[in-house]
Amino acid sequence: SLNQSLAELNGGINVSFEFFPPSTPEMEKLLWSSIRRLEPLNPKFVSVTYGANSGVRDRTHSVIDRIQNETNLVAAPHLTLVDAEEAELRDLAKQYWENGVRSIVALRGDLPDGSLKPTRFAADLVGLLKSVADFDISVAAYPEVHPEAANAQADLINLKRKIDAGANRAITQFFFDVESYLRFRDRCVAAGIDVEIVPGILPVTNFTQLKRFAGMTNVSLPSWLHKQFDGLEDDPSTRQLVGANVAIDMVKVLSREGVKDFHFYTLNRAELTYAICHTLGVRPQVASAS
Ligand code: FAD
Repeated sequence: SLNQSLAELNGGINVSFEFFPPSTPEMEKLLWSSIRRLEPLNPKFVSVTYGANSGVRDRTHSVIDRIQNETNLVAAPHLTLVDAEEAELRDLAKQYWENGVRSIVALRGDLPDGSLKPTRFAADLVGLLKSVADFDISVAAYPEVHPEAANAQADLINLKRKIDAGANRAITQFFFDVESYLRFRDRCVAAGIDVEIVPGILPVTNFTQLKRFAGMTNVSLPSWLHKQFDGLEDDPSTRQLVGANVAIDMVKVLSREGVKDFHFYTLNRAELTYAICHTLGVRPQVASAS
């Protein structure tokens, strides 16, 4: 297949890029210049987030439409279950399929504050999507355990349920402790999970923001990482270089450990992701006609 031959050209490496829907004209410009910059790297797919409980599905849909209409990229919308009834999800899935969407990132979504114990989970969404059409489905995985999970084993069994329901790959929450990813991957294999556990790479440019976000998501920020960014609070250009270096070091180790698929949380910026891909050997390609 074309995807396979592109991966071979790129030394067997597959990449995917995640974007979020812009909320201002300036952010829209940034998003599109980033998409254009990253497009020649021939990602396996590019995904567009949807903020659960935000009530603005149209923003995700319109970015997906435009990617489909104006680029050769495979566009994968994120879809969350937490704020929609089953019938609505079914309709959305049908619409996506009719519009040529074949790839979906299926999530439960975060619970709104003060909500009751959930009764539906991402595995249910995977099953629902598969019952509508044969989508290519990515699900979320948590090397450092999802904050709501009873324990690591229960969380792993949940991932297994999502794969058994038909998911094609897992994309991890971002992490900086590479060992925790590698141990998690081993535990997935031991649990009989036979899909790629794709590391989600977050190139860091704003450490202050990251600290806030990491706390909410149960991601540890090792002390070496703090040290890297210490004193750069008012120095964005050095932060950018340091952030690139941190991510490049990480992907080198992952690559040595046999990781072939990488997912990038681009935050709608191209520079760092492009540089990291470059060091992985992922270069602009013109697909040959053969
Ligand atoms: P699930 O797999 O359903 O797991 C949620 C929790 O429930 C886990 O703790 C799990 O162990 C537990 N659990 C599962 N089944 C059971 C059960 N039967 N009984 C008891 N406990 C159970 N959020 C957005 O709003 N929009 C996005 O676009 C988005 N994109 C994301 C992309 C990636 C790659 C990742 C990693 C996360 C993303 N998120 C997004 C965040 C995600 O929605 C939250 O982390 C959410 O809290 C969990 O979603 P999930 O799909 O992992 O849920």
